[in-house]
Amino acid sequence: MLTTPGTAQKTVITELERAHTRDTIRVPDIRGLKAIKCDFHMHTVFSDGLLWPEVRVQEAWEEGLDAIAITDHIEYQPHKTYVSGSLNSSYELALPKAKELGILLIHGGEITREMPPGHLNVLFAKDVERINLEDDEAAIMEAYNQGAFIFWNHPCWKKQQPDSCIMFRIHKDLIKNKIIAGIEVFNEIEWYPCALDWCLENNLAVISSSDIHEVTAHYYAMDKWRRPMTLVFASEKTHESLKYALFAGQTVAWFGKYIAGREDLLNELFIQSISIKKNGKTKQGETIINLTNTSDFIFEISSIYDKNKSVVLYPDGFVSLRVKPDERFKISNWFTGSDKNLIIHF
Ligand SMILES: [Zn+2]
Ligand SMILES: [Zn+2]
Repeated sequence: MLTTPGTAQKTVITELERAHTRDTIRVPDIRGLKAIKCDFHMHTVFSDGLLWPEVRVQEAWEEGLDAIAITDHIEYQPHKTYVSGSLNSSYELALPKAKELGILLIHGGEITREMPPGHLNVLFAKDVERINLEDDEAAIMEAYNQGAFIFWNHPCWKKQQPDSCIMFRIHKDLIKNKIIAGIEVFNEIEWYPCALDWCLENNLAVISSSDIHEVTAHYYAMDKWRRPMTLVFASEKTHESLKYALFAGQTVAWFGKYIAGREDLLNELFIQSISIKKNGKTKQGETIINLTNTSDFIFEISSIYDKNKSVVLYPDGFVSLRVKPDERFKISNWFTGSDKNLIIHF
């Protein structure tokens, strides 16, 4: 019930205000490395987004993220008539709020070109203004020379590759020369399985981004799912450590109920997320095991040999499985390749 307004000149109805709480996202540490929850792709009014930079930080904090990069288009500012400022303004305006809330804010921008090379995100930029060069390669090289981590955005975006999903010569060269060091396997609501293979074949960081332009809670079904994110496994929550881990490819993509990335990282994540207890044997010689999920991941577990044997393990969930000797299971919503799932042997 609301406070009854008194006869005083002013009554504050505090109940109207929403509590600003932060979502807790449970991802285990692996190999002594912390899971840093990141979104490295989003827009503000300084390009074609609808929000002021500071609001992006508040949003990310409430949604449980640890690090974000605001990546406004370098070559596209449709609100320029109303919003002045430089290509560094969104970063500068968001920084005080990020410091206040403990969000790692990464100085970024989006190189926005026709395909090829398409769109590339630049993280850890020193001065985004200097990247605003007409020649594609000159702009990319300027970002590289600033020490930036560069990844290829939405490689199979329908607007740029309506009927195909191919890697162009320029991407191959940039990857070979370690200038492109990551690729989005997921963008907004699009998942690109072929990009996962490209990442794995070339030791690149897998990236999953929102590329959000409006309010995240207005766009995503956040009553059911968290926003897409990249999990970066870093020794500390610092810029240096995050950058090192990105270049080392220590990342996992998380979007909806899906996880995609390197097999060794996914395997380790699975082991650390689940507690396994043996609970006797059946007459047929199967071991009964109890699985409890202590993470926020979802596991769709099914036997490779027996299609009828499948369970879904939700966060805080508990399931029992009968396991034959040497029986293998796959996690069908965890991808270690475009057509490969994580395989588990209990
Ligand atoms: Zn883009
Ligand atoms: Zn974008």
